[in-house]
Amino acid sequence: MYLIKTIKNDITKITDVQAIVNAANNSLLGGGGVDGAIHRAAGPRLLAECRTLHGCETGEAKITKAYHLPCKYVIHTVGPIWNGGKNREEELLSSCYFNSMKLASENGIRSIAFPSISTGVYRFPVELAAKIAVNTVNKFLQDHPDKFDLVEWVLFDSHTESVYKAEVERIKKLC
Ligand code: ADP
Repeated sequence: MYLIKTIKNDITKITDVQAIVNAANNSLLGGGGVDGAIHRAAGPRLLAECRTLHGCETGEAKITKAYHLPCKYVIHTVGPIWNGGKNREEELLSSCYFNSMKLASENGIRSIAFPSISTGVYRFPVELAAKIAVNTVNKFLQDHPDKFDLVEWVLFDSHTESVYKAEVERIKKLC
């Protein structure tokens, strides 16, 4: 069986997972928010490896090593920019979670931590993002019950953490 949980923390400090997910941008060459924090903590070799990947489409995911971070891998995914909700934003955000889980399982990763993808500078509404995130991951875990031991969301602020926590509690009641 697997554990799903939320925690309020800085994702670069997490020590109980093999991979963390980066809410990157299409260039994969670093940015602000969680992306900047991950690059700062991993060190310059992360950027050097990212340069060899030639970017990433929105909704897709790519994997690198984690260098100075406590985990082993970073999975870089690019969330959609919220633009009112009529531009496939929900489907693209779901793809970020699905493709990150798929890439992790293909690489033998059994524990993974996500940030709140797209809800910072990309302005995706947090309640809707949390619902999509938790539903997509839960479906993946139900379809592949032996692939993971731990999936967690590492949220930077109390409000976001409470929203994801409520969603995780909701799906646990359904299981
Ligand atoms: P996006 O461009 O996908 O919206 P952001 O990095 O702007 O990504 O924000 C995504 C979420 O990550 C926000 O909730 C933000 O507060 C949070 N965040 C920022 N820094 C960190 C960090 N070091 N660890 C975890 N979450 C973080």
